[in-house]
Amino acid sequence: MTQTAHGVEFTLQRSAHPKGVEERAAILANPGFGNYFTDHTAIVDYTVDPEGNGGWHDARIEAYGPISLDPSAAVLHYGQEIFEGLKAYRHADGSVWAFRPEANAARLNSSARRLALPELPEEYFLGAIRGLVSADRDWVPSGDGEALYLRPFMIATEAFLGVRAAREVSFRVIASPAGNYFGGELKPVSIWISREYARAGRGGTGAAKCGGNYAASLIAQQEAEANGCKQVLFLDHFNDDAVEELGGMNVFFVMKDGSLVTPALTGTILEGVTRSSIIQVAKDMGRDVAERKITLAEWRDGVGSGDIAEVFACGTAAVITPIGLLKDSTEHIGSDDAKAGEVTMAIREELLGIQTGTVADRHGWLSRLV
Ligand SMILES: *Cc1c(COP(=O)(O)O)cnc(C)c1O
Repeated sequence: MTQTAHGVEFTLQRSAHPKGVEERAAILANPGFGNYFTDHTAIVDYTVDPEGNGGWHDARIEAYGPISLDPSAAVLHYGQEIFEGLKAYRHADGSVWAFRPEANAARLNSSARRLALPELPEEYFLGAIRGLVSADRDWVPSGDGEALYLRPFMIATEAFLGVRAAREVSFRVIASPAGNYFGGELKPVSIWISREYARAGRGGTGAAKCGGNYAASLIAQQEAEANGCKQVLFLDHFNDDAVEELGGMNVFFVMKDGSLVTPALTGTILEGVTRSSIIQVAKDMGRDVAERKITLAEWRDGVGSGDIAEVFACGTAAVITPIGLLKDSTEHIGSDDAKAGEVTMAIREELLGIQTGTVADRHGWLSRLV
């Protein structure tokens, strides 16, 4: 039994076949991103009773392994699914900390409302993370820029093909040791402009973290890769080409005067925890931050005139990644042999420092897990 500090009890059934010390060490020596998973998983199930009252039950930590689903499970047909992403960092003294997990718990619930899934009380979210990382504490890497990536997700498991919100749902967390997201040194990436495809539309699910948004972005991502780019930029191209975000990262501009600009949240943009943390960190550093509309034309003209000094993307997985070149068949903004900008690097150092415990956690963003 694991009694969490938050009062929700997760039973612990240890894996009978955990990976051996040597195999784990070999994985941790070069984890990459999303390739390997730890020995355990956290699960909480949800059922609506005959009176129509829903409840979460059977909170547990058990061996990582395949999920048994009825072929008619709603998630397999109608995509009723949401997810989260956050990291657990090992500090120099060996302790393990999550970065702003309450923000992820809150966002999971705002995604749940949009996808007609049940909200999960915060203490279950935090208890699941704590219980899982505690069981798999030896999987938290300690190398520079490394962390244990946590992937909470919620799926509609009810066996039913009618079109309505499912009455049986499962919340789970899996964990994956992570190195540098894009691999290698921090080199500015090239970004492809998606002209044909949108990842989200007005009134749609763009502000929710759901698998369907990613499914919608993959064809554009393939186009990006076919054109030598790492990621794709989505614009509001039916209107004024306002910059929205990348497939899974928000975008920031560093202006000539040292201030920052990031696209305002319009409903088609996902509100990143990294994005809001950067807004705070930049203000702490004395910088002005504007959340406003910024169009492709302003990006092009700003880079041309020097009004825009640096551009970067941000998200939990890669934290902060400089953007060198933005292109498609007609545009060529910036340069693919650009160096990472000074302000980009300073903000990255500060944020990573807070996450890894080398810079004071002045906003109380860290939660100790182990
Ligand atoms: C998860 C995600 C982000 C980044 O959010 P973080 O909380 O910073 O990891 C940005 N855009 C999209 C579409 C996302 O799904």
